Amino acid sequence: MIELLFLLLPIAAASGWWLSRRDLRAKCDGVGPANPDFLRGLNYLLEEQPDKAIDLFLKLAEVNGETVETHLALGSLFRRRGEVDRAIRIHQNLVERKNLSAERRGYALFELGQDYMCAGLLDRAEVLFQELVELDLHRKRALHALRDIYQRERDWVKCLEVAERLRPMTEQSMAVEIAHYHCELAEDARRKQDSETAQRQLMLAQEADPNGVRAAMLEGYAALDDGDPQRAVVLFLRVVDRGSAYVAEILPSLIDALRQAGRDDTPALLENLARRHPTAPLIVSLAAVLEQTRGAEAALDLLTEYLSRYADLSGLERQLELLAQETRSDENHRHRLRTALEVTRHLLARHPVYQCEQCGFQARSLHWQCPSCKSWGTVVPVQPEPIAAHETRIP
Ligand SMILES: [Zn+2]
Repeated sequence: MIELLFLLLPIAAASGWWLSRRDLRAKCDGVGPANPDFLRGLNYLLEEQPDKAIDLFLKLAEVNGETVETHLALGSLFRRRGEVDRAIRIHQNLVERKNLSAERRGYALFELGQDYMCAGLLDRAEVLFQELVELDLHRKRALHALRDIYQRERDWVKCLEVAERLRPMTEQSMAVEIAHYHCELAEDARRKQDSETAQRQLMLAQEADPNGVRAAMLEGYAALDDGDPQRAVVLFLRVVDRGSAYVAEILPSLIDALRQAGRDDTPALLENLARRHPTAPLIVSLAAVLEQTRGAEAALDLLTEYLSRYADLSGLERQLELLAQETRSDENHRHRLRTALEVTRHLLARHPVYQCEQCGFQARSLHWQCPSCKSWGTVVPVQPEPIAAHETRIP
């Protein structure tokens, strides 16, 4: 509550209490009357009775318009403390006052909008932010807030409208966001079996962000669904070129597309990819191919060589599985291997698979928009940790 008391000093000054007290102190050596309402308000705050204190301070604020800044600060402080109802009371009171300048009323409207967002009253917040845009007050912040609302509501058409209005006002490119909105619309259309709309939206996504990974990935999935595995292979390889971190993401579909297309160069293609992007899912897939074509020893050689360069739990899990499966030793030795395998699986289950490059948020599944910092395309697959720098050697 101490920070609230500091904020209230300007109210004290404006209410005449502080000044009159100083004047009186000069005259009467520190003894003088204080505004009883203000003192009562302070007492309420000290006694943790903020509602009674707010009643009094709002009454004082009506006396003098110069206390607006303090009330704005008090409101946002209540909101930051999670006391949204109190913040709403203060900001509503300000908005309703007749003597506010347009600029200050705009500020109070924006704060009230933020209160409504915190309280989950998105419809009310939307009306306020739209009003600010129309009044041309705090326009950029209001548009950003509207975009947050539409993102929460997953209204991608409105997100696109706001992004287009924001584009000339902001220094940062909106291309990545715009491409993701089109991708969201493409996924919605795909769920409704509307492949024509999905295709058009993916085209718009690529136009907005020609190097975007997601649109290429979705095009690949669509080609596979539509029975064109050859095209799917080309599109999935384009994903790898644009964002090699996502190779694990498309790998099962790429292998499926290669199988459906009857391609006999699958091992060579995987080997080539693994050489360029040594990640556990690729190495494990290649190990499976090697196991089938050249036997378990070749698969184990590949995994061991990979693990000598990368501290990677999923590679280690596959190696221990193969060792436990292949060992001809006694039951005791098999038990030791199974124990090591269980520990590895336990650690692997707690290991993040994805991490946000922006805020460090960790996840077990892919999010195109970070659930924590709300950035688009920043949650990427965690890459294996190198043990030492070596030349990549695939046997
Ligand atoms: Zn983040």
